[in-house]
Amino acid sequence: MALIKCKDCKKEFSTDARRCPNCGAYKPTSKVVKIFWYFWLISFIGFVAWVELRDVSPEEKAAQELEKTLHDAGYACKSYMKDSLNDPGSAEFDTPVVTPATNNAGGSGVSFNVRMSLRAKNAFGALVGGITLCTVEKTGDNYRVIWADIAN
Ligand SMILES: [Zn+2]
Repeated sequence: MALIKCKDCKKEFSTDARRCPNCGAYKPTSKVVKIFWYFWLISFIGFVAWVELRDVSPEEKAAQELEKTLHDAGYACKSYMKDSLNDPGSAEFDTPVVTPATNNAGGSGVSFNVRMSLRAKNAFGALVGGITLCTVEKTGDNYRVIWADIAN
C-alpha cells in the first residue's frame, strides 16, 4: 500500500483512499488520469469538427439527387397507372426503367420516360399484363405524368 502526502494538511494517507482522512481534501488527480481525460476531450473535439467540416462532394450530391429523381419519376408513373386501374390493389409492377426524355413535350420542366411491366386485374377480374409507358415532367420537386400508355 503506497502513501501520498496530502496537498492541504501535508499528512500521509493511502493512495487507495479518495480523500484525505485527516482534512477531507481530495487526492490530486494522477497524471495518467489527467492525460487520459485530455486525450479523450481532444478526440471528441476532433470528431465533432470532422462531422461539421465533412462535406459531400458535388459529384456525390449530384448522383444522389439523380437517383432520387429517377426513383420519384418511376413512383409518379406507378401511382398514375394505379389510379387508372379497375383494381389498383391487384397491381404488380416490376422495377421501373427511367431515362431522361429528349422530347420535352413543350413543358417547363425536365422530362423522363418511365417503362415498366405491369400486371393487374381487369374489369372482369382477369389478370392481364402489359408494358407501362409514362412521360413524367419534373418541375422543381413536383412530378407530373404528361403522357401515359399501356402496351400489350
Ligand atoms: Zn489532509
